[in-house]
Amino acid sequence: LSTIKILPPPIRYLSAACLILFIVFLIVGALAIPFLYESSSMWYKFGIAKTSLRIGKMLGLVAGLLILLQLPLAGRIKWLDRIFSLPGLIRQHRRHAWVIVLMALGHPACILLSEDMLLIPLEVRYWPEWLGLVLLGLIMIQMIGSQWRQALRIPFHVWLPLHRIAGMMIPALVIVHVLYVSESFTTPGVPRSAVFIAAVIFFMIWMWMRTGWLRAGRRPYVVSRVEPAGTDCTSVFLTPVSRIHFSYMPGQFAIVSFRSKRISAEPHAFSLCSTPSQGETLQFTILRCGDWTRKVTQLQPLDKTLIQGPFGRFGHLFTTAGRELIMIAGGIGITPMLSMLRFMADHGDERSITLIWSNRSERGLIFADELDAMSAKLTGFRFILIFTRKRDRRELSGRLNQSMLKDLLRDCSPEAAVFVCGPPAMMRQVITDLKALGFPAGSIFTENFDF
Ligand SMILES: Cc1cc2nc3c(=O)[nH]c(=O)nc-3n(C[C@H](O)[C@H](O)[C@H](O)COP(=O)(O)OP(=O)(O)OC[C@H]3O[C@@H](n4cnc5c(N)ncnc54)[C@H](O)[C@@H]3O)c2cc1C
Repeated sequence: LSTIKILPPPIRYLSAACLILFIVFLIVGALAIPFLYESSSMWYKFGIAKTSLRIGKMLGLVAGLLILLQLPLAGRIKWLDRIFSLPGLIRQHRRHAWVIVLMALGHPACILLSEDMLLIPLEVRYWPEWLGLVLLGLIMIQMIGSQWRQALRIPFHVWLPLHRIAGMMIPALVIVHVLYVSESFTTPGVPRSAVFIAAVIFFMIWMWMRTGWLRAGRRPYVVSRVEPAGTDCTSVFLTPVSRIHFSYMPGQFAIVSFRSKRISAEPHAFSLCSTPSQGETLQFTILRCGDWTRKVTQLQPLDKTLIQGPFGRFGHLFTTAGRELIMIAGGIGITPMLSMLRFMADHGDERSITLIWSNRSERGLIFADELDAMSAKLTGFRFILIFTRKRDRRELSGRLNQSMLKDLLRDCSPEAAVFVCGPPAMMRQVITDLKALGFPAGSIFTENFDF
């Protein structure tokens, strides 16, 4: 635990501000090129045609820049995770994709409009423009495949490698397109040099992520135990095989890749439900919900495992010490809460903690007895179990709604840090309700299991 570096808020905000400023600087630089380095195609245009051509170029350049930034955003870079958190970066990666698509569509539309053309002539000399159209097609396919993957019934393990291949092809084509499509870049000068520098930096980040960093960041472990947890989950316990251990904070998650004949090596994200205060063994509790997670039961002791991380800023140690805590979990979303609770129980934490755990029925329960017994060690602990479908063990039933939350949280301080983790629809509703009840957005911390 001591080896994990939590950036103090001022340094985190300063680093975030510097990085955002740097990106703004790059965008302004890209926007300035069509003004400072006009190509001959601009010289003979006036009025709307000139403005349209300039806007088209600006849209294309910013889209190209954002495409290059997509790699570091989704690249699981640890120091970026410390500043922004990996789930936040992935969300930004998705938002960027929409902006890129809109700009990439606007780019040829504005340029064709300025040329008074409907289509690019089918001539060899126009190959960079045609390449641009191929690129636009690829961007659209990439976007549609990612945004509507589930509706299109593309399995995640098929989608991810294709997404990564396209994610490398698109920046490569962007660079070739930019270098050959406009005189501002075909002739030696600042714009051409800037594209070369961007290409080299992009390639270096890619190499660093694929080789050195990935290997250095992964910790070798072996499976020590596999046991059922509740009806639908499996707990996998891992022990380290090297002396370099995996340091993490309660509530964080890791990317796990098993090297076993019985299950594919594709990396999956899981919250640690163990706590660093209980030794080196790591515990993940996995809900059997898909092809891959269903095979986890087949893992055997001594199966090799690579762990990458930890990632995320979801955890009580990332907030002010001693602050009152509210935890709202849905189903398997209990895992990061369990890690935090186990840690606090080991430290005899006396603060006020309210855990609301919503499940469809008793079938979803895991570690319920351990949670029940938690109040013996945590004097301020209150545990509320809700079943949305069945009234099994406790009084409360039905979906968590605003009036239920208002009632359950009436004794809680509005200053409390609120942790929410569960199915996306439940999280959206709970966050809206919490805000309506007066909990500031900055005090609500979320972990989305489907980023
Ligand atoms: C930060 C985080 C923490 C998580 N913690 C837990 C946990 O503690 N316990 C738990 O049971 N689950 C957890 N999950 C969810 C878990 O990662 C998915 O349920 C699991 O990867 C599904 O795999 P599958 O192939 O069996 O299911 P599928 O039915 O194939 O996939 C279900 C969904 O899971 C996601 N998914 C599938 N494969 C991957 C992958 N390789 N990488 C990333 N996402 C994928 C996709 O969105 C997919 O639509 C967590 C997810 C995240 C992002």
